[in-house]
Amino acid sequence: NNLLSFQEFDEPFSKNIYFKKKVSEFIKEALSNDEFYLNYMPIYDTKNLEIKAFEVLLRCSSESMKGTGPDVFIPIAEEYNLIRVIDLWVIESTFKNIKNNYDFLMKTPVVFCINISSEELKNPLFKKNLVRLLDEYEIPPEWIELELTETSFVEIDQKSIDVLSEIRTLGVNLSLDDFGTGYISFNQLINYPVNNLKIDKSFVDLLETENESGEMIVRAILSMADSYELHTIAEGVETAEQYAYLLELGCHYVQGYLLSKPLSWPLAKALLIEPNTENLKNLVKFS
Ligand code: C2E
Ligand code: MG
Ligand code: MG
Ligand code: MG
Repeated sequence: NNLLSFQEFDEPFSKNIYFKKKVSEFIKEALSNDEFYLNYMPIYDTKNLEIKAFEVLLRCSSESMKGTGPDVFIPIAEEYNLIRVIDLWVIESTFKNIKNNYDFLMKTPVVFCINISSEELKNPLFKKNLVRLLDEYEIPPEWIELELTETSFVEIDQKSIDVLSEIRTLGVNLSLDDFGTGYISFNQLINYPVNNLKIDKSFVDLLETENESGEMIVRAILSMADSYELHTIAEGVETAEQYAYLLELGCHYVQGYLLSKPLSWPLAKALLIEPNTENLKNLVKFS
């Protein structure tokens, strides 16, 4: 009963219908056995390397899901109508954690960035659930940011834009995730009521001295974001060289393995108490 037994099929593993069916069953099992948990990945202010936010990332401890990460199981959850349950679970678990750490977070403010499926824009209950949970756990809405991937924005209609505006009106922040991987044109962006733009890792990967076009592309994205008054977050920063480029080009925030991997809450909290700013400054310093 191991996912590896599906490897005999020719199609890409994650697109195989038997594999997907099996994963959808494992997701249901994991939900009822309480085998999902959260990791927190720090997002740093590029200039001073202070932690500004954590991106909340879903993990599964079940043996049967070993080696199957959210990049694989989230699209399957979407296809098998399990995504609404998952998104709600992630939101509520994040809120519980915030409530448990309320006094600490009052003194050390940080934003929690939660990924949600664009499917929620078609879910009439999403906003209601969000309002109910904010209220129930007494969460200041400005502590929360929702990340939506750009691909999902392509089919966005007026109704979805209205839902986004209503969420913004609550005081919750919105960011456009994986920017550059979908098909949003720069001039379309004005229609989306988001406050932040996350530059996809694939562009950050291009930031190296031998590759001038990488710098040009990132510069173009940053200048466009600037004219729409959007803050920019670069994801997947792995090298000091990439960090140096992003600092020079004026990207506001950075996240990536160079700075920190996703962490359990106790480790994330420890970083807020005792930041690794000094180590990082040495790490990213080069002449
Ligand atoms: P994402 O929202 O773009 O999240 C960033 C992904 O890039 C995370 O992978 C993170 O661990 C990874 N990453 C960050 N920095 C680096 C780096 O420097 N190098 C490399 N190689 N990877 C880096 P993860 O946790 O596997 O998540 C994959 C995707 O699954 C996420 O992409 C997001 O779209 C989705 N996802 C994750 N958690 C949730 C969730 O709770 N709900 C929903 N709806 N989707 C989620
Ligand atoms: Mg994200
Ligand atoms: Mg992303
Ligand atoms: Mg990404």
